[in-house]
Amino acid sequence: MSETRPKLRAELEGIPTYVPGRPAAAGGPVAYKLSSNENPYPPLPGVMETVMAAASSFNRYPDLACTALIGELSERFGVPLSHLATGTGSVGVAQQLIQATAGPGDEVIYAWRSFEAYPIITQISGAASVRVPLTPGEVHDLDAMADAITDRTRLIFVCNPNNPTGTVVRRAELERFLDRVPGDVLVVLDEAYREFIRDPEVPDGVELYRERPNVCVLRTFSKAYGLAGLRVGFAIAHEPVAAALRKTAVPFGVSHLAQEAAIASLRAEDALLGRVGSLVCERKRVVDALRAQGWTVPETQANFVWLRLGERTVEFARACEQAGVVIRPFAGEGVRVTVGETEANDIFLKAAEGFR
Ligand code: PMP
Repeated sequence: MSETRPKLRAELEGIPTYVPGRPAAAGGPVAYKLSSNENPYPPLPGVMETVMAAASSFNRYPDLACTALIGELSERFGVPLSHLATGTGSVGVAQQLIQATAGPGDEVIYAWRSFEAYPIITQISGAASVRVPLTPGEVHDLDAMADAITDRTRLIFVCNPNNPTGTVVRRAELERFLDRVPGDVLVVLDEAYREFIRDPEVPDGVELYRERPNVCVLRTFSKAYGLAGLRVGFAIAHEPVAAALRKTAVPFGVSHLAQEAAIASLRAEDALLGRVGSLVCERKRVVDALRAQGWTVPETQANFVWLRLGERTVEFARACEQAGVVIRPFAGEGVRVTVGETEANDIFLKAAEGFR
């Protein structure tokens, strides 16, 4: 056999990946999953029925252009059809946005710590990541992000609310920042958790997009709409950017089931947003309880909370797992804990109390 191996792109070096293996053996302790910011509610019966009906035609390719879904989104947001692009989860759309704007020699700016996909999808593109540390209060440092812009900057992610801290940037500071960004640099407002925001000072990215051709809004059906497993996200962007997203899309990357479920979810928005309201109440209960236990918890506007634990991070996550909840540790930094079912939150709160 030849010793020569296929040449892989150097950009892939150092990106961690999973190794395909056997499924984990069943029978372990029952664990609640509070590690991926998912919606704990099961699908609405009406959405489930739609998906089951759609399943009868999965021998066919889906609608490449997601026509019906784009039509619904256009009405829902009051934006032209040509300003919408769907993709395989919003992380898929984020990857397309980088592919469409940046390559070797270019720079992508984002806050750090933020959504862990940003460094990976940037590295894959061959562009360089410019990470701007969060403030000590765990908030985007927008002045420092604006200072980091060079003539190589092509794209800036603003994650609002920020994953994993849940913190937000408000209207005045965001507008001031956008005023400093050159018109040929694309600003992506990643609003994966938009529906969980209750702070009235946080602007709706769609309003900012309307005023600025270099602003694009990223949204998902994975969180508030509870469709994480079906993989559908979308961007609202001005025509050239939205067209670039259609060019870089994986053909047929949004399944028929996902398209139908997304449409059904938009039509069942009242029920789904009611559930979001319950999760927001539960979020307050969790944050208040943690603070009463003596933890420092940044103000969160998302469906998760952030605890900065430094060296105790992994140990804390292990204690939670032993208690029956899986959370998300970022070794040496802190943990992100999704606000889930009341029982799961109670187990987590008890574990946190025991850890103090
Ligand atoms: N943006 C942010 C900030 C996220 O936290 C996530 C999911 N963890 C995504 C985008 C991607 O979500 P999806 O691909 O499921 O739409």
